[in-house]
Amino acid sequence: MSDDAEAAFGAVADELRVRILRELWEADDPLSFSALRDRVDVADSGRFNYHLSKLRGRFVEQTADGYDLRLAGNRLVGALYSGVFTEEASVEPTPVEGTCTNCGGALEASYEDERGRVTCTDCDVALLSGGVPPAFVEDREDDLATALDGYFRTMLREVRAGFCTQCSGPVDGRLEHDPEHGPRAVFECGRCGGTFHGTAAAVALDHAAVVAFYYEHGRDVRTVPVWEVDWLHGATRAGDAARVTVDVDGDELDLVVDESLSVSVAERP
Ligand SMILES: [Zn+2]
Ligand SMILES: [Zn+2]
Repeated sequence: MSDDAEAAFGAVADELRVRILRELWEADDPLSFSALRDRVDVADSGRFNYHLSKLRGRFVEQTADGYDLRLAGNRLVGALYSGVFTEEASVEPTPVEGTCTNCGGALEASYEDERGRVTCTDCDVALLSGGVPPAFVEDREDDLATALDGYFRTMLREVRAGFCTQCSGPVDGRLEHDPEHGPRAVFECGRCGGTFHGTAAAVALDHAAVVAFYYEHGRDVRTVPVWEVDWLHGATRAGDAARVTVDVDGDELDLVVDESLSVSVAERP
């Protein structure tokens, strides 16, 4: 971690400072020094001023209208509300419509240990699995599977567009050939070092040729739950690249995913 990042963590390592950030977040408009102090409810003006000064610059700005959150302050409070630092949540396994693409068994969705999953009750294969913050499941317990589908598609779109889902830093994608799981798409953030893994075929999910191919068959691939898209798990190695065969109602479309995860339609021999 950089010295800057350590200094930033130090600046918020105090309960009173977190309260200041929360009050600024909840206020619709910038707050004057005294209005902010009243809301935070600290009698000692000197102590309040000391802690506010530690936030000023990086997290809080002082404008002509009063004190307000900067982008970093907004991000920090958003992360606190997501519950990743404070909460534990779980959702009991619930049945999911459709069947396992691996064995035809019944599916269920669950949330535990900060992971959302859609798994097969027969062969135990996880058709979808990934880290999700506790805030995600609030009010979504009844349709956890649909929410997970939307969450993972959004994350995939974000890293495909070159943004880290953790810190918004620049992300590079590359193809890796895993001896056990076949070709994999790996995205790595150049800033925070966060990584995001998916199947090689997943990067083709919203490719124009795939969307059009489904459309020609009267379907919209954007609304098919990812655990029903069986070709997502079927990429094979082709030299340094990966070959993906999209199958819709028995018709096939061949794609190539290259080393940098660019997708193109393969030439048919
Ligand atoms: Zn199964
Ligand atoms: Zn990052």
